[in-house]
Amino acid sequence: MKLFTKCKNCSKEISFYSFCETKTELIMEKGDKLELFCNNNCLESNFYDTNNIYAKRSIRTEIIGLIFFLIGTPLLVYTGYKVLDFDLGAAYLASLLLVPGIIYILFKRQDENRVRTFNRG
Ligand SMILES: [Zn+2]
Repeated sequence: MKLFTKCKNCSKEISFYSFCETKTELIMEKGDKLELFCNNNCLESNFYDTNNIYAKRSIRTEIIGLIFFLIGTPLLVYTGYKVLDFDLGAAYLASLLLVPGIIYILFKRQDENRVRTFNRG
């Protein structure tokens, strides 16, 4: 997942990717200090406390969930109407709206859990 810390030089956020699911795992793999290269304008390389590395909610996950919601809903309505030849009653439409909505919420919750798990250690 994408992990972050603040650059010692420009105090902007540095990001990097790791397969570690928790902070403990990251410390076990990398040790107490981690050398990171600032990917902002300053391009400084420094050692950072592994303890100060944190995970954040991913905007990408949110966008994917939202796109699924925006595309999924009309797609389901269209499928029900054209392919299955359903009578589009209000209850049916409401239930169609629920499906992408629930998927979107599950997407968000999974992302929140991932961040919480990592930051807790
Ligand atoms: Zn920097």
